[in-house]
This record gives sequence, structure tokens and C-alpha cells, in this order.
Amino acid sequence: MVKKRLVAPGIKQMKILKPLLTFFAAIVLFSGCEQNQVVSETADRIIHNGHVYSFLWGEPDGEGVPASDAPYQNGVWSSDGEAIAIKDGNILFVGANDDVMAFSGAGTELIDAGGGYVYPGFVDAHSHITGLVADEKFIRINGAANEDEAIEIIIAATKDRELAIGEWIIGGGWDEGEWMNILPNEKRLTELFPDNPVLMGGETGFGYWGNKKALEAAGFDRDTEAPVKGTFTRYEDGELSGIALDEAGRVWRRILPAETIDERKDTLVKAMNIMASDGFTMTHDAGTASLSMAAFEALDTEENMPIRIYAMVDRADAKLVDEWTAKGPMSYPSNMLFVRSMKSGLDGTLGVRSARFLEPYSDMPEHSGLDENWTMQIGQMDQMIQAGFQINTHAIGDKANREILEFLEKNYAINPDLRNLRHRSEHASVIHPDDYKRWVELNVIASAQPPYVSEDPPWALSRIGEERAKDMYAWRKMRRLGIPLAFGSDLDSYDHNIFYGIYGAITRADKKGIPVGGFMPHEALTSEEAIRGYTNWAAYSAHVENEVGQLKAGMWADIAVVDKDLLNVGSSNPADLLNGKIIMTIVGGKVIYKN
Ligand SMILES: [Zn+2]
Repeated sequence: MVKKRLVAPGIKQMKILKPLLTFFAAIVLFSGCEQNQVVSETADRIIHNGHVYSFLWGEPDGEGVPASDAPYQNGVWSSDGEAIAIKDGNILFVGANDDVMAFSGAGTELIDAGGGYVYPGFVDAHSHITGLVADEKFIRINGAANEDEAIEIIIAATKDRELAIGEWIIGGGWDEGEWMNILPNEKRLTELFPDNPVLMGGETGFGYWGNKKALEAAGFDRDTEAPVKGTFTRYEDGELSGIALDEAGRVWRRILPAETIDERKDTLVKAMNIMASDGFTMTHDAGTASLSMAAFEALDTEENMPIRIYAMVDRADAKLVDEWTAKGPMSYPSNMLFVRSMKSGLDGTLGVRSARFLEPYSDMPEHSGLDENWTMQIGQMDQMIQAGFQINTHAIGDKANREILEFLEKNYAINPDLRNLRHRSEHASVIHPDDYKRWVELNVIASAQPPYVSEDPPWALSRIGEERAKDMYAWRKMRRLGIPLAFGSDLDSYDHNIFYGIYGAITRADKKGIPVGGFMPHEALTSEEAIRGYTNWAAYSAHVENEVGQLKAGMWADIAVVDKDLLNVGSSNPADLLNGKIIMTIVGGKVIYKN
């Protein structure tokens, strides 16, 4: 409807939106009326006095240059609206303050955006939101540089707790990447807690560290063989020394006391409210197992979903995989819950060197990651893709990322329509230079996490070396080739703050600006691309780009109001993004959070 937005900077963009109103008024006047009676729509809610960025203009090109119809002139962005009218959970109108009042009626709630910046609600395309709400007894050892520091935190957290004999001490957050060179053993935890099992998970969930009681509780002893895709550390005499990696860690974790569905519902509501307070209107849950799935379904029935959830069926939950294979993909009528995808995985992480590479690790020759038999995993992936599910596969190393291509090729040969399901590589960290072309041909999305590029390079470089690192988080290269990107945080392993995420994609540096100039700076994105990664591109990766990710009449009213002009600050002074605050979050027309 609006073709050109070539307006000199400084000139208000409101005029441009006039045609939008005219066009839309025509629709509302002549639709939904009885007996040709002319009625106009009255908004439930109107947000006005904002700087609205609708993102309704064309996509930037592969170099990040804004489209010719973008509200962008001489390096400066201008907002393309001031106000939004909302009715029945949908956007009715986006435009000027004066024009929006045509939709105001007796029952209309007016919300003053106070000059704040208004964006499509943010979408976190890769999260593990249960991790946001650890129960009070869960001991967070995040940030501990080593065993000594972790032990101090554990002692402080348990000193006032009256521990019954056999009561679990549970916590997590140790940095598998940083700790990998000097892994602790069970000795000190065993000494401190001879009568209580202690289990501390690693930050990314691939490593577990526990004491003797915790090993005993799982029935692990010197004769226990590690499961396929897993590793136990051992003392020289073969006795288990207290660390389990990958699948072995997951087996260990499973013996923790079971949680009830009410507890899980409570956790999820809290987590969704935290996400809303952080500007997110939808998140993709990267691995939803039975308990969370049942809790989401119950919350959806009770109309108690603060934000929208795109739940990926957890491949490790065989029962759930079978159940959904039989049911097929589903969007719930509320439009708050979507189960159309599966979270699978073809490797581990760079930190613990379980990510799978075609060539050995640079800091561990002869080791190129997990090399076990992945047939069973692929079998579940085959089952789900043939049932019409999008397959979102954890793949960090170039070998795992290549195997996604092989998996898709094989399945497209059976049913060519499966290529339309927008399959994703979750993380898509390192791609072999020979493989990009096939990525494009096979229509694969890179679901990537800006916090990775901010935080991982210092140790990731030693893992894979300079040469391979050129194809690590190679987002500009992907954009040039037309590989779709979707952004997320991988919370709670990483900080999901939206301002930090946008900052990371632009600067490729950590919060202190290190490395100066950014890691592989030629792969940096523009502020527009960074925001699209968290809005309409993330929506595309969940098949909802016609409903969310832009501010447009007819789309769901998912909106974030913030105190930063993200497009301009992101291109002129990205470090200032880190000071950003969320002012308001609206999901389906309802104000879920207000600062
Ligand atoms: Zn993840």
C-alpha cells in the first residue's frame, strides 16, 4: 500500500501513513456490517505518543543496505508512525496520533507511550525458559571461575539450611568451556556433604558434577559404562571421579526428585512473565518434554499464557515423540501455543569439546567431538519430519551441520513438500565452506544466538583455530547467500536481554566491548538486521510471519515499547543499547507488562 517513503530527514513521517489510514478505513467501513449499514470500528485500546517502527518496509539486501522504501535517509532512521489502535487482540491501525483517534470510542483505553519507541514484540527463537525460574533451593554457581569459588557459593547457600539425611543439594551454572581444562572431582563435595547427594549442572546442561552420594543415588559405580553419547570422568584406578558429560550427565540428572505439574505450571507462568517484562511476546522453547508440554496445554486451556510459546517437542522424550508423531503438528485455537516442531540434536558443545567436527580439535588432536552412533536420533528425526514437523537440530560443529543437510536431502527425496517446513539448525555455529550452497538449496534456517558471538570467542578460538573460526557465526556471509537467520539467546545459559542481543549481533563483542572491533567484524550485522532477527525473521522461523513480527493492521497485537531508538542508537553508539529499558509489553492486545 505504501510504495515509497523517500522523505528528507527531519520531515515527519506521519504524512506517509495517511494512505494507510484511507486504505484501512475503507476496509473497516465496508466489512462486518449488517444490511450495508456503515459502522466504523472502535478500538479496545489505543497506544499513542510513540515513535513507532512498523518494519513494514522491504527487507535489507544481503549487505544490510536498507530497502529503498525504508524510512531511512542519509544514515538516519525515522519512525513511521506515532500510534496503534488495537481491537480483539489484533492491530486495527498504525499511523499518526491525529488519525488514530478515529478509532476511539466510549470504551477505548488510551495508553500514552510517552515518546517511547514502539516495535513489533520481540521473539526469542531459542530459549529454555524453565531455567529462568530456579526454585529457591537451587544453588546458582554461575560465574564461579573454578571449583574453589563454586564450593564457596555452595557452602554459603547451604549453611542455614537444615539438611535431612539424604536430601538433595541441587544447583548449576558452572562454565563447561572455562572449566574443561581443570575439571573438579567429587572429593570436596563428598567431604562437605557425606550424607547428602549433591549435583551441580553445567551452564549449557552438557556437564554434571556431583559427589559420592549422588553417584550412589544413580547406581553409578566403577563398573558403570557410560551410555552412548556420554562420558564419565574416572580416577586412574577406574573409579568414577564425579563428572558426567553429555548423555551420561542427562542420565544422572533424571534421578533428581520429580516435579509435579502444578509446580511446573507455576514455574512456566513465572518464566513467561519474566520474558514479558523483558520485552518478549513469544519464545521458542528449545526442547519441551512431557511435563512442560502438559503444563503449557493446561495453562493454555486456563487462558493463563502471558506470552506465546512455540514449543519444540524434545527428541529425548521418546513417549512424547511418538505421541506427536501420531497427532501431527498443531497450533492451538488460542494462538498462544504452537507444537509444530521437534528439537533434535546432532552434537554437543564447543566448551566440552563434544561438538562434532570434520577435523580434530585444535587444542585436542585426534579428538573431533562425539563420534558415537547417532542412528537412533536420526530415526526419531525421520519419524517426525515425515509426520510433517519442522526439525530444529542442535548443531554446533561443521560435521553436525553437514549431517542436517544429509538428513534433509534424504527426506526431501521421499517427500519434496517437506522442504517447505523451514527446518533449522539450532546454533549453526560452524559451517564448512563447501556446505553453504547446499544450505541454500535445502532451504535451511540458521537459528543463531548473538550472545554466543559476544561470549564464546576467547576459548572457542583455541578449540577450533583461526582458519575454521572464519566460518563461525558467519552471519553476513549467510545473509549474502540468502540463508534466513532467526535470533535467540539460548537462555538460561546466556543472558536473554534484548538490548544485549541486538548489541551482540551489531558489535560481535562482549558487554565490555572486547574484543575491540568485534570478533570477525566483517560478519557483523546492521541494527535493522539485528532487530529483524528478533522480530519478523524469528517469526518466519516459526511460520507466523504473517501474524507477528511487524506492526500492521490485521496482525496480532504483539508490541514492545522501549526507551531506546534501537535502529539509530544501534548504528551510531551500540554500547548505549546496553542501557536500554523495556517500558511496556503487549501480547495479543493485552498489556502484560508495564514499567
Ligand atoms: Zn539451547
